[in-house]
Amino acid sequence: MKTQTEAITYSNYINGEWISADGNSLEPSVNPANKNEVVGYVQLSSRAELDAAVSAAKAAKTEWRKLSGAARGEFLYKAANMLESRLDEIAETMTKEMGKTLPEAKGETARGIAILRYYAGEGMRKVGDVIPSTDQEALMFTTRTPLGVVGVISPWNFPVAIPIWKMAPALIYGNTVVLKPATEAAVTAAKVIECFDAAGFPAGVVNMVTGSGSIIGQGIVDHPDINGITFTGSNEVGKRVGQGAFARGAKYQLEMGGKNPVIIASDADLDLAVEGTISGGLRSTGQKCTATSRVFVAVEVYDTFKDKLLSKVRELKVGHGLDAGTWMGPCASENQYKTVLSYIDKGLAEGADLLFGGKKVTSEGLENGFYVEPTVFENVDIKMTIAREEIFGPVLALIKVESFEEAIELANDTEFGLSASIYTKDIGKILAFINDIDAGLVRVNAETAGVELQAPFGGMKQSSSHSREQGQAAIEFFTSIKTVFVKA
Ligand code: NAD
Repeated sequence: MKTQTEAITYSNYINGEWISADGNSLEPSVNPANKNEVVGYVQLSSRAELDAAVSAAKAAKTEWRKLSGAARGEFLYKAANMLESRLDEIAETMTKEMGKTLPEAKGETARGIAILRYYAGEGMRKVGDVIPSTDQEALMFTTRTPLGVVGVISPWNFPVAIPIWKMAPALIYGNTVVLKPATEAAVTAAKVIECFDAAGFPAGVVNMVTGSGSIIGQGIVDHPDINGITFTGSNEVGKRVGQGAFARGAKYQLEMGGKNPVIIASDADLDLAVEGTISGGLRSTGQKCTATSRVFVAVEVYDTFKDKLLSKVRELKVGHGLDAGTWMGPCASENQYKTVLSYIDKGLAEGADLLFGGKKVTSEGLENGFYVEPTVFENVDIKMTIAREEIFGPVLALIKVESFEEAIELANDTEFGLSASIYTKDIGKILAFINDIDAGLVRVNAETAGVELQAPFGGMKQSSSHSREQGQAAIEFFTSIKTVFVKA
């Protein structure tokens, strides 16, 4: 175990060099499974470091965009290979830094590798369309141009996959990048950037500056030389990012919170539904934007579903993410842990009934970690705080519904619209659900949390600025269309 004195310090990555912040101001990244263990120190940077990174990215963008997509793709393939060669180590760092279990951390790192390879291939895909001109002696077509310098602001919950699913398309479509990862998972992000460094990208194409949201994050939003900002995080911060970017004419993309519903219809396969509800709601300690939060259960099967759910939830093993057999790790930070416990208190104060969990975990060996029990409420009214606000913790709210129509109406009664799922075998209900649910990700007989990397990802309503990440859809944000008219 690393103590404070042994923990490694990670620098910023600017213009192809690892550089400490001026004054060497550092911030610890703490293991949420043991608050006395510092996983590493990261730079608490100032605007000067951000300016240096943006200048480097700006200087590099002309040569980078001149390369063919295939040539840019070669760098992504190399970064993927580097990441693959360090998969176990980086996954372990992720588990130590933000608490996710090791199998999940390995799965996420493998996904990062697959995303890099996917976008490397995208560099060879056709772009643009030929559009018939009314002038028979002219050629009219569209092509795409990179934005220039892209600022990437990422959260802590997917510290490998999210920076990569933003950086890989940014880079393949010819942009240069300045990444600001969340401090809670910045050591993991630094290791990802080490893989980009080892891949030999030209200096300035990839940069990383760590630091606070208010200085480095806001600095990216305000920086006149950053042409596009892709943000994933909370709604509160996202709105500020969107307003700031809009005010100075920068393109922006926001992926934010969710309050994702699952509907358990009267004809559902209840074992499958229980499995999907638990996995969707409690895996990664509920810290996924697509996590299942509100569970609408048909009155006819309510009691059976509840009993099956509780018997499985009781068996979930909470513990250190590195220990074999652990199903659920701690909350990722003290802040998150306190937030989750305060939502549970609100649920109780507003009259919901606690069926299971609700407390911090104090078992031997876990006393120094930010552990919360998997928690299930019932008799939750749709107006209660725990049915309205994103908790981002292992908390499920069961809501009994009298009809399928009521389930859809209540599922849509939220300001969010990221993911939604239904368990049913009835094709009529499936089609009605697909048509009527307000969500960017619609899942049938599958948990809310999940999307394949080659498919568009994003939300509706307040979950998103309505653009899409991942798959071919990413080209829409990371490029602009040029309409070209050529007269011989
Ligand atoms: P957060 O909003 O607190 O932070 C996200 C990032 O923004 C961090 O890097 C942070 O330092 C930075 N930031 C903070 N203040 C800023 C400011 N004023 N200007 C610019 N940047 C600033 O979110 P978090 O706690 O890291 O992550 C959890 C949230 O992320 C949840 O709401 C979750 O739903 C959301 N999330 C959404 C998706 C999605 O794709 N929809 C995926 C994962 C997480």
